[in-house]
Amino acid sequence: MIRTKVIDLINNSKGTAFSFELLPPLKGNSIQMVYNVVDKLREFDPQYINITSHHSDNEYKTLPDGTIQRVNIRKRPGSVAIASALQHKYGIPAVPHIICKGFTKDETEYALIDLNFLGVYNLLLLRGDVKTLDAPHDPKLYHNYATELQQQVNDFNRGIAVDGSSFEANETPFTYGMACYPEKHEEAPNMEADIFYAKEKVRNGADYLVTQMFFDNAKYYAFVERCREEGITVPIIPGIKPIVFKNQLNVLPKVFRSDIPEPFASELRKCQTDAEAKVLGVEWCIQQCKDLMAHNVPSLHFYTYLASDSVYKVAKAIY
Ligand code: FAD
Repeated sequence: MIRTKVIDLINNSKGTAFSFELLPPLKGNSIQMVYNVVDKLREFDPQYINITSHHSDNEYKTLPDGTIQRVNIRKRPGSVAIASALQHKYGIPAVPHIICKGFTKDETEYALIDLNFLGVYNLLLLRGDVKTLDAPHDPKLYHNYATELQQQVNDFNRGIAVDGSSFEANETPFTYGMACYPEKHEEAPNMEADIFYAKEKVRNGADYLVTQMFFDNAKYYAFVERCREEGITVPIIPGIKPIVFKNQLNVLPKVFRSDIPEPFASELRKCQTDAEAKVLGVEWCIQQCKDLMAHNVPSLHFYTYLASDSVYKVAKAIY
């Protein structure tokens, strides 16, 4: 069982701590895909490994007779099981993401019970992506915001179940981080409102915040400064992703609302192939990380989806 808290690993790290996020394999694929990423990045001494979580989505299948059928599929199940498997195989603390969109409060409670049994005590609490989720959720069954999910986890830690009954067998209270957005969350009316909720997350128990990916360090520094002015004192961990495809020049700003600074964008525009974009992505990411390290960030958290080779090259250059 790993009881070490992520916040202690970050605070006690001698240099800039290294951590990364990976996605569960698509339904039907082997966990070996996850192990392959960990095996590749292990040499950089990851302090913890995050595993994303994904709700089910509606998809439309064309049947042989030409009619269209709506099916509900959870494409990437297994976050809880993968977190446990990683901890047991590698002895590295795993941080499963717990999302509230697409999961009922009861389902979340069952996940917490499983995690408690499995000895996985570090979590990242999030609302979850809603871009593909259609029906509005019944607030009796579902939470709307990460702060509501946080309340459920805090209650669980105090031995209170969703129905008000008691738990007596919590091994260790869960500890957790939550998300923040140096370039503002897309739904937030303004930065001030977004920071207000970031502050609520910390006030109610988040040990640290992890940022959405960004490519312009100036935006991160300005955001951290503003958070500090507002009294947020916890570590704000930069979330870093090397660009690997030429079309990410337009896709990432659209999906994640992350600006690509002009010097980098203009070089990416000149790339003829993804291979060229990948080389450039690694170069930019190395410079970005070196600059963040020079500014004494406590930790760098890498998004490895479709980019684990590039993350390896970046880590090799900076650690
Ligand atoms: P919230 O904190 O709930 O914020 C959502 C919006 O509501 C913001 O605009 C905020 O300002 C506002 N808000 C917050 N609280 C309240 C409140 N109480 N009342 C009114 N407004 C409020 N998605 C996945 O599906 N799976 C993942 O594994 C995953 N991992 C991620 C990891 C990181 C580090 C990050 C940064 C994002 C991740 N996401 C993931 C995406 C994330 O779920 C989306 O960005 C989502 O839209 C917002 O999540 P949140 O936890 O920040 O939500």
